[in-house]
Amino acid sequence: MALPWRAEEAPDPRLLVLNEPLAVELGLDPASLHSPEGLRLLTGNLVPGGAAPVAQAYAGHQFGWYAPRLGDGRALLLGEITDVGGHLRDIHLKGSGPTPFARGDGQAAVGPMLREYVVSEAMHALGIPTTRSLAVVATGRPVYRETVLPGAVLTRVAGSHLRVGSFQYARATGDTSLLRRLADHAITRHHPGAAEAEHPYLALFQAVITAQASLVARWMLVGFVHGVMNTDNMTISGETIDYGPCAFMEAFDPATVYSSIDEGGRYAYGNQPVAAEWNLARLAEALLPLFHAEQEQAVALAVESLGTFRRRYSAAWLAGMRAKIGLRDGLGDDVASPLVDALPALLQESRVDHTSFFRSLGPAARGHADPARSLFPDPAAFDAWAERWRVLGPDADAMDRTNPAYIPRNHLVEEALAAATGGDLDPLERLLDAVTAPYDERPGLERYAAAAPEAFGPYRTFCGT
Ligand code: AMP
Ligand code: MG
Repeated sequence: MALPWRAEEAPDPRLLVLNEPLAVELGLDPASLHSPEGLRLLTGNLVPGGAAPVAQAYAGHQFGWYAPRLGDGRALLLGEITDVGGHLRDIHLKGSGPTPFARGDGQAAVGPMLREYVVSEAMHALGIPTTRSLAVVATGRPVYRETVLPGAVLTRVAGSHLRVGSFQYARATGDTSLLRRLADHAITRHHPGAAEAEHPYLALFQAVITAQASLVARWMLVGFVHGVMNTDNMTISGETIDYGPCAFMEAFDPATVYSSIDEGGRYAYGNQPVAAEWNLARLAEALLPLFHAEQEQAVALAVESLGTFRRRYSAAWLAGMRAKIGLRDGLGDDVASPLVDALPALLQESRVDHTSFFRSLGPAARGHADPARSLFPDPAAFDAWAERWRVLGPDADAMDRTNPAYIPRNHLVEEALAAATGGDLDPLERLLDAVTAPYDERPGLERYAAAAPEAFGPYRTFCGT
């Protein structure tokens, strides 16, 4: 399921950004990563002794259509290292040149690689499971898109790169022992508890269901729209992966779509839980031979497990929403649920900025309702809800720790990437500074907490990264 491969030579590598805390976590010396040799390591041009870089094969459903052979087309798994906490982490490159799986030129441009860096690190700072970004190095190679752009390599760190599509690929080979080895590997690496279960492979499936239900709930709670939830972009670990056309929703609307290729709105904000469930059904199909020797019984077991997704998702979402509006743990769901359930319609009706609304609830609980009220064209709508809410004594400090002030807002991301592509890294650094400490509101960063100006217009993202 993997081919030995080498990264393309970067003619003139230049470090654009290095994640020093992550380097330390990995047991690497940040200073040495700045050196010419360090840059060769980060781009895969210098392969440490014992490492054997590979391009991984996987399959996947893309927008509902099965593609039997995807794989690392412009990416490379350099190897695994044990971090200072004793956990195995994949070191992976994106933009390292075409492999036998390539469906394009194998290149990546500076903008999209920095975008993954910013958004993945923002997600991490929000406490959401995600692949991490160690560095972006400009290669000195031109990349031909609509215009000529500077090329770059992202050095990505992940619990693993096992995807739903990895299992689909193994299943399609017809080799059940390969499928079993892959499942055993996933259990050892990510869900060791499953090994103790009566049905370890069913327990693995259930563990992935639980991890994904919780992950997608976390996305929904911050207004994150992944944009391309194909089965090859869904991990077994429960980490968010592949930041292509993703974006954060501003005005609340479940129909929000940013990706230019998502014409049917398959991966719209409000569809993400259903899309995840659909992907998990594909994982179940791939795992069927491991569930039971009799297909009918295997299907029955799969259906029963899959049936738990909605309950798990709803529980994770409700718990998250209760925290977002500062409700105390002792309060019954019979009181909390109606208040929570009223919010989506309230926010959608007034197209309220998702992040600003929840952030304004801390002050509102302290008696400063103006910032919250001002988000509504008709504040009476908010007042009616807030009156019911305030009598429950919401915890303002807890809300300040739960609802971020700063997310990577689309106009700010675009501004930072455009400047970086032109050689100015200052806006990127300022944006990273804001979004990697998202709960710590600081004077001078007001524009990082504000919604896009009207002039920014409707936002579109592109997959041609
Ligand atoms: P994605 O939609 O980014 O998850 O990519 C889907 C598939 O297309 C993966 O197998 C990628 O490796 C491959 N791919 C995307 N962009 C390129 C590119 N520029 N060159 C080669 N392969 C690519
Ligand atoms: Mg992908």
